[in-house]
Amino acid sequence: EAKASGRNRAAVYEERMNELLQLQHTIEAELRIALRRGDQLSVVFQPLVDQQSRMVVGAEALARWNHPKYGQISPARFVPVAESTGMIDILGEFVLQRACELGAQTPGRTIAVNISPTQLRSPRFAAQVFNILHCTGMRPSDLELEITESILLDDEHTSAQNLRTFRASGIHIALDDFGTGYSSLSYLKRYPVDRIKIDRSFVMQLTEGHVSVAITRAIVQLAHAMDIEVTAEGVETEEQATILGQMGCNTLQGFLFSPGVSPDRIAEIFEQAGNCAPQRRKARSN
Ligand code: C2E
Ligand code: MG
Ligand code: MG
Ligand code: MG
Repeated sequence: EAKASGRNRAAVYEERMNELLQLQHTIEAELRIALRRGDQLSVVFQPLVDQQSRMVVGAEALARWNHPKYGQISPARFVPVAESTGMIDILGEFVLQRACELGAQTPGRTIAVNISPTQLRSPRFAAQVFNILHCTGMRPSDLELEITESILLDDEHTSAQNLRTFRASGIHIALDDFGTGYSSLSYLKRYPVDRIKIDRSFVMQLTEGHVSVAITRAIVQLAHAMDIEVTAEGVETEEQATILGQMGCNTLQGFLFSPGVSPDRIAEIFEQAGNCAPQRRKARSN
């Protein structure tokens, strides 16, 4: 009986694996179509808010896929598929293009774009970025590339070379999801970055008097000592924002302020932020 149930479990497992593989194949095939057609994919922009003034100082580009049959498919699901199938180059180019089109219209605002390790490892990647900057007219210093710490771990020569090229041209580099992986602040000395983004998992635990308060505070202090700016992501409550402010976090991002919005809407938000400095009131016009 034990054997039989063991076999059963194996059969169920195999069935699940097959389902997963099937799903993976479906996503892969559908993504290929979506990238060719271009009308299912879009990019939204989530505001980046200055902690002290609460002004919107920039935004992060986030890929969106609205499938005609399956509806919204999360990037957490399709980005890994794009990475493992080589489609990330086209997807990444699409997102960069949209981000730089916006950035060209809104000089002085930081536009952040998520970059996958596969992209950064490509020797063609730097040329792709500079070409898009050139064609759209966006200033390199308004662009921030978000990388994950796995990039710092792999000793890939091309990744390091690309990072140096970007920084030399004034493009900013942010380390995303900081604290979730193998982050060691010593890597930051080898591959200097301009910003770290403290992962949402830390922010979520801040109000529970959890040890993550101490960890987060230490991260902020070390980063500042290395001249690195700190952004907290996934800020959902005023209480979290206050604690992060007390710790000296430079910028905040999260649903407390806004989710990702359309390019038109974020341009409007930038406009309002520029026009409404704190305390200043609009003169009544006739
Ligand atoms: P990420 O770069 O860490 O982006 C932050 C994610 O957290 C986004 O999810 C955002 O919508 C979500 N978020 C922001 N504020 C809050 C909050 O207050 N509460 C909660 N619960 N969530 C919040 P999204 O858009 O689903 O993206 C997930 C991940 O997919 C991103 O994590 C990023 O790693 C990846 N991704 C998204 N777009 C791209 C892209 O264009 N290229 C690449 N390579 N990866 C991307
Ligand atoms: Mg990000
Ligand atoms: Mg992040
Ligand atoms: Mg994250």
